[in-house]
Amino acid sequence: MSKPASPAYIGRFAPTPSGYLHFGSLVAALASYLDARAVGGRWLLRMEDLDPPREMPGAQDAILRSLETYGFEWDGPLARQSQRHDAYAEVLQRWLSQGLAYACTCSRKQLEQHQGVYPGFCRNAGHGSENAAIRLRVPELEYRFIDRVQGEFRQHLGREVGDFVIRRRDGLYAYQLAVVIDDAWQGVNAVVRGADLLDSTPRQLYLQELLGVAAPSYLHVPLLTQPDGHKLGKSYRSPPLPAEQARPLLLRALRALGQDAPEALLELPPNAILAWASQHWQVDRIPRTLSMAEAQLR
Ligand code: GLU
Ligand code: ZN
Repeated sequence: MSKPASPAYIGRFAPTPSGYLHFGSLVAALASYLDARAVGGRWLLRMEDLDPPREMPGAQDAILRSLETYGFEWDGPLARQSQRHDAYAEVLQRWLSQGLAYACTCSRKQLEQHQGVYPGFCRNAGHGSENAAIRLRVPELEYRFIDRVQGEFRQHLGREVGDFVIRRRDGLYAYQLAVVIDDAWQGVNAVVRGADLLDSTPRQLYLQELLGVAAPSYLHVPLLTQPDGHKLGKSYRSPPLPAEQARPLLLRALRALGQDAPEALLELPPNAILAWASQHWQVDRIPRTLSMAEAQLR
């Protein structure tokens, strides 16, 4: 009797349209793309447009255009989190009624001295959920996983994170909730993304546990600085990736990921560069840290 086939690889790229794609997001997109294509896997695209006030007008189109210009081809239709509110609401209501989540009316000021770890003030207050943030109770447990590049990562949810927000007071759903519901809904079983999300992963493992879904594998690539030296954070609004620089920037991104990128690739169109790179993809060459990644670029 033949064994059941292992589930095929399903990866994704999930940009937030608060700005254009920058070099760091290109590196993350490239890593997730190559990791999927190297094994003949699927690569999905999901727009994480959860936060209209922070959305930059035109960013969604610009992101799609950049991805196309840089040779990326995604499978299936683009998913948009702005279309998924019913799914988030359903989970949230269930957890509220089960007492796993609760309403929090604390002001930012009240929480100021607690270094980001919510002290549980509203845990048993029984506030109504109107006009309140919704927090998820976390267990007093350490969550751990083995990242494919970063190695073992551990975090104690009670001590280091605390009950965290899954719907904001203004009614917007939190990234942590939406990302886990949607990865499960889309069947994603391999997450490749920037290392800024490493310390979100234990919260996501807990959310998966509550949803009863399997955790995907995780690979967090090092964060990079702009060629001009700017740290690539959420606050720095970078210009769009230049269309006419697609080939050299793809080579640079490959090198930042520790991959071979012979100069001869500059002769190829972007999608052929990606095809070549997916055939030569070597996860064990991805540097763990920014300094190592930047050394590759010299
Ligand atoms: N939307 C997130 C970001 O742009 C990425 C989410 C993820 O890959 O889990 O930072
Ligand atoms: Zn509170």
